Amino acid sequence: YVALISHDLRNQLTSLMGHAQLLFRTLAKKGLATEAASAESILVSSTRMNSMIQELVESAHLESGQPELNREPVDLFEMVSDIAGRVGTAEDAARIRLERQNHVPLVAVDIERFERVITNLLTNALKYSSPDAAVLARISSDDGRAIVSVQDQGIGIPTQDLPYLFQRFFRAKTGKKADGLGLGLYITRLLVEAHQGHVWVESEVGKGSTFYVALPFFQNSS
Ligand code: ADP
Repeated sequence: YVALISHDLRNQLTSLMGHAQLLFRTLAKKGLATEAASAESILVSSTRMNSMIQELVESAHLESGQPELNREPVDLFEMVSDIAGRVGTAEDAARIRLERQNHVPLVAVDIERFERVITNLLTNALKYSSPDAAVLARISSDDGRAIVSVQDQGIGIPTQDLPYLFQRFFRAKTGKKADGLGLGLYITRLLVEAHQGHVWVESEVGKGSTFYVALPFFQNSS
């Protein structure tokens, strides 16, 4: 039901975004800065709306049963550095630092699905911290598991909100000013659990947050 409705909604939005983009370019070329800024606002808002609808569809999908995963062996560091280079704007991407521990074994993930997990964590780290603060993504291993951590120096999360963070539609008191539906971390948890992994967070208000994802190593059965 959600998927059907959102398909039609997204068709309309795609058309809206296309026209707003055309209008923006035409107005900017003509030197009409104020009008171009209005067209750009339409573009930004419709793009946000589009990703909110995508989150609703994705969470409805995941709730309707275990997702079918097309797993393949992946080097997490390569995957994370690839995503870090194309997340958000060029300024956003420049804030991300990468670190790796030597010899972290491969993991078996559904690339598209797991890219979503990493993108959600990086986007949140950038979104909930100041625009000049660095975000550190680290790949390591511990006790038979590969671990990706994403650490920011942002607003942090109140201790009493931490137990609810990965629940559907939950938004912490500290984060309400930024837009969002509170579905990103819920989707993240469902996807990580579908990979037999575990996701958790450590955070302190005013200091920042670190999100961790742990995945079992890839076992070559052939
Ligand atoms: P959204 O960002 O759309 O609200 P999420 O499910 O991604 O939804 O996150 C849920 C809530 O968790 C956010 O509303 C915010 O309050 C908090 N949060 C998530 N990531 C961070 C972070 N890196 N720093 C501070 N708060 C965060």
